[in-house]
Amino acid sequence: MLLAELFYSIQGEGKLCGVPSAFVRTSGCNLRCTWCDTPYTSWSPEGEEAAVAQIVGRVRETGARHVVVTGGEPMIAPQIGALCAALKAEHLHVTVETAGTVFHPVPMDLASISPKLANSTPHEREGGRFAAAHEQQRLNLGVIQRFIDGAGDFQLKFVVMGEEDLEEIATVLAGLRGWKPADVLLMPEGTDVATLRGREPWVAEVCKQHGYRYCPRLHIALYGHARGT
Ligand code: SF4
Repeated sequence: MLLAELFYSIQGEGKLCGVPSAFVRTSGCNLRCTWCDTPYTSWSPEGEEAAVAQIVGRVRETGARHVVVTGGEPMIAPQIGALCAALKAEHLHVTVETAGTVFHPVPMDLASISPKLANSTPHEREGGRFAAAHEQQRLNLGVIQRFIDGAGDFQLKFVVMGEEDLEEIATVLAGLRGWKPADVLLMPEGTDVATLRGREPWVAEVCKQHGYRYCPRLHIALYGHARGT
């Protein structure tokens, strides 16, 4: 599969925020979010071909007990099932981060599902040539439900920019079963501390009102927006 990067860092988002983890980042995505923070896996995919055994060996070398398989969209990576099965065979805790538009019955401990809201649609970027395809694919409630039903644990992580996102989040949640407010994470959009700071108080208040979980971007605070972190 095409591997963008593999590194050892601190999980900066979600229920396992703060846990030292190895990150396996596949390259390639079926979406084109306008604010994508890893464009080298989506808008301009890059990386090196790597076999499952090579990837598992490099994860083993990090010494991590938690591994995060992310992207891009890992669910479209060839051999994603074999990779996750091999990582589980190493007795690692496996998180898979997905936008929830493509389903495979992949072994994992935590499904980190990030449904993409209208704020992600690239109306301006590259003349808007990906906007229609993105809009058509960005939400698939049936796929998200399969992840929820099939996972030992899951989280629904929404990237939010403003109050206009709340109505769409409510609509998405109304179409899903089996979640509780603590499974819902709101994460402010932004790749720099100043932007995040500007959105944090508002997002925190919404979480308090609804019982959702506030999702920081700890890796940005620790390392800035840098590859390999
Ligand atoms: S789904 Fe993720 S990797 Fe793909 S374009 Fe959106 S933010 Fe980037």
